[in-house]
Amino acid sequence: IKLIDAQFVITATEPKGYPSGHAAEVAFVGRSNVGKSSMINTLTGRKKLVRVSNTPGRTRTLNFFDVELDRDGHRHQVRLADLPGYGFAKASKADRVQWDEMITTYLDKRHRLEVVVSIIDAEVGPTPDDLQTLDYLQEKDRRVLVVATKIDRLTKARRKPRIQALAQQLDLPLEAVIPFSSVDRTGVDEVWNALLGAFGK
Ligand code: GDP
Repeated sequence: IKLIDAQFVITATEPKGYPSGHAAEVAFVGRSNVGKSSMINTLTGRKKLVRVSNTPGRTRTLNFFDVELDRDGHRHQVRLADLPGYGFAKASKADRVQWDEMITTYLDKRHRLEVVVSIIDAEVGPTPDDLQTLDYLQEKDRRVLVVATKIDRLTKARRKPRIQALAQQLDLPLEAVIPFSSVDRTGVDEVWNALLGAFGK
């Protein structure tokens, strides 16, 4: 996989603000601080495409990015949607309601959305919020790819058993859970290949 270009497109909160176009879209969801911004930056090979913030819970909008990549001499256009992180302990009730509304509307209405990447902390495992989100995605018949990030925090010997345990716990086939690290770039090609392979299925 070779990255050709990656750029920010637009920020939106409602459908009328979503960007138009025909590129396959991939949305990224996860709890605040799981490593979502780092993952998008790592996948796109851009250090600051998404600001990596140490103040969790601050992203309150949907942010769209356009990526162009080359796989085996073929060009692919992919649009990424960075959804605000959930499960921020200090979020107010009103914030949570607003979050729910924004996300459910997006997941309901976005026709070009092909895959939702559900980001889980490989060390921590799925939180109740993660499980609820996965249930919701299944209910909506959305195709899901689970990416277990911060895998660098586990010793090499613990990685494979952890991914197997995660797949079992989430009731997913082993290939639907991909180990990832933004620190050492583990899993970058695997995630892109899984995404490109899932489009149109
Ligand atoms: P977000 O809130 O989900 O966007 O999370 P960030 O990308 O801002 O990352 C949250 C924290 O986790 C930051 O301190 C990152 O440096 C750290 N982090 C993110 N990805 C990784 C990773 O793959 N491995 C390790 N060890 N730390 C990471």
